[in-house]
Amino acid sequence: MRPQVLYPLFKPVDTLKGVGPRLKPALERLAGVHVVDLLWHLPTGAVDRRHQCTVSQAGHGELCTMTVRVMQHIPPQTRSRPYRVVCEDETGTLVLTFFHAHADYLIKTLPDGELRVVSGTVEHYSGEIQMTHPDHMVKVEDIDTVLKLEPTYPLTHTVSQKVLAKAIHGALAETAALPEWHDPSLLAKHKWQPWHQSLLKAHAPNDMTDLDLHAPARERLAYDELLANQLALGLVRRGMRKAKGHPTHGDGSLRQKVLDALPFALTGSQTGALDEIIQDMESDLRMLRLLQGDVGSGKTVVALLAMLTAIEAGHQAVLMAPTEILARQHLNTIQPLAEAAGVTVAVLTGREKGKNRAAILDGLKSGDIKIAVGTHALFQDDVEFADLRMAVIDEQHRFGVHQRLELAAKGSAVDVLVMTATPIPRTLMLTAYGDMDVSRLLEKPAGRQPVDTRVLPSSKLGSIAEGVQRKLDEGARVYWVCPLVEESEKLDLAAAEDRFVELTKMFGERVGLVHGRMKGKDKDTVMAAFKSGEIDILVATTVIEVGVDVPEATVMVIEHAERFGLAQLHQLRGRIGRGSGASTCLLVYQPPLGEVAEKRLKIMRETEDGFVIAEEDLKLRGAGELLGTRQSGLPEFRMADLEAHQNLLTTATNDAKVILETDPDLKTPRGEALRTLLYLFERDAAIKYLRSG
Ligand code: ADP
Ligand code: MG
Repeated sequence: MRPQVLYPLFKPVDTLKGVGPRLKPALERLAGVHVVDLLWHLPTGAVDRRHQCTVSQAGHGELCTMTVRVMQHIPPQTRSRPYRVVCEDETGTLVLTFFHAHADYLIKTLPDGELRVVSGTVEHYSGEIQMTHPDHMVKVEDIDTVLKLEPTYPLTHTVSQKVLAKAIHGALAETAALPEWHDPSLLAKHKWQPWHQSLLKAHAPNDMTDLDLHAPARERLAYDELLANQLALGLVRRGMRKAKGHPTHGDGSLRQKVLDALPFALTGSQTGALDEIIQDMESDLRMLRLLQGDVGSGKTVVALLAMLTAIEAGHQAVLMAPTEILARQHLNTIQPLAEAAGVTVAVLTGREKGKNRAAILDGLKSGDIKIAVGTHALFQDDVEFADLRMAVIDEQHRFGVHQRLELAAKGSAVDVLVMTATPIPRTLMLTAYGDMDVSRLLEKPAGRQPVDTRVLPSSKLGSIAEGVQRKLDEGARVYWVCPLVEESEKLDLAAAEDRFVELTKMFGERVGLVHGRMKGKDKDTVMAAFKSGEIDILVATTVIEVGVDVPEATVMVIEHAERFGLAQLHQLRGRIGRGSGASTCLLVYQPPLGEVAEKRLKIMRETEDGFVIAEEDLKLRGAGELLGTRQSGLPEFRMADLEAHQNLLTTATNDAKVILETDPDLKTPRGEALRTLLYLFERDAAIKYLRSG
């Protein structure tokens, strides 16, 4: 149960005074749906209003705070003219101007003959000293509310600074002191104040240095966030491990049959990873391992051999992919090999229906089907296994930790292997997986040639098409990736369809189109035609991004490459260079090229190393954006900055470990406070893993 002191913070934002139905969606987009989300929306700058001056001292363009007497209201002759209020002090006349003003409001706020403090930007305009729409107009006794360093917040165009600041103040007013969850020695070491004071301070800087990421208040809040995350990960991990695993000993017979059927030998990396996995399986602890390997490094075979180990020992295994295409592709890879070993495989996605589905469910329940390959459909409640021992989850960053756990719940103490092609930098690894075990495939299968990557402006499309023609004549197969139009799947699609029509005019029947809105079956048909060589140009939106495997494809054209992120470009390019033929990737951009986009394309030209690319990406974009964390299931930090706060992350990881060792059920007073911390940062799911939840 969430502690009562936090209740006000988890109300919707429109429960705050002054936040109505119009402001609500804007705040939700900007910060989040709860009051607490506004607390985490920290200022990125500040306006110094401490500069007081007289009217005659106020220079053009300067931000000034002045005390003036209201002399005269001059309503406009027409709607298009401003409402003017003439004010003065002993040194001169200041005219306040208001467009589309409400006279009633101005008469009330600026009564004739009274003194008012006004603050805003001064303009010298046709011989007058003016201030248009002052930021503040208050009574003299309230001058202290104006004379300060006023924080400025990151905005979208739908919310003004003033309105946002007011909402945030409303949110801060809902907060109260919370019991301290940190060790006193840590607080002393960093000179950190209690949470409540730090929060207020972060929103009310006294000088510019208070806005620094390393200012004590900011660091304290960042550390709170990191500790909440690391503690939650620790709890989840322990939850998975706590139920002892079952040792699984395969006799190697099925694996040997598959190895014999493979047209290649495993790389050293593959063998190494497999050894680590099998060791985990043989131990009586439950496996939770990440298999990280760049695109094309051969993860699927490793996964299959691991699954076969479970089957040798008499159990079942599942492999789950994020999309239908990938699930079917895994099936295509796995089925012939499994058949060679006499193992029954079934596929289960949203597309299996009626009798067919019922038969598969029967097979899984009876244990006749040994391996299930599928999508989210594997989560459904009516999917039961006779004896599930091993779950492989492909491209984990598309799933969340929760789903990982849900799947694991389908068997008792299921071993979990997560496969990802995303080269997650170490810093992110720690925040996403805690101390999850990791195997890396660093080596690529033999015979792979580097991809020749070129960067070209879109004005060269004509000669690119000619080049493609030459490659086609040589028997190449070509991916043609179409522009990503931000936030509009429809436009995305239109662009791909247009390109498809044009390329069909140029190259005839050999062109196919695949996109995310197509029905699964239609997608498969096109993919199969491309794989078999029936068509040899595949126009695609980013649905081919992850995992698709057509070794014969050796050319990729990416239009509007400047719109893709580095990780995405790397994933896309990983679709070629998989066979033994030399491959070419053409990154086509629409000038003018922004600075960051130019750097990205340059990096793509210079390296194919996924880890290098990921590190560069981290530098260019900052951790929050890397991997598109919102969709990825990787945590997104509101206050912690993984680059600036790296040391804090290490400390938090160790701190969490010590906490779980010394107070495993968070029962001490500090433990109780830490529970509040977990709730505060919405790590509620982890609390389930406490015995006295
Ligand atoms: P990814 O790690 O991207 O999932 P895949 O498992 O799809 O990579 O493998 C990519 C391609 O490499 C497949 O066609 C697969 O058959 C092939 N492959 C895997 N291991 C080896 C190897 N050791 N030697 C040669 N080819 C391999
Ligand atoms: Mg793969």
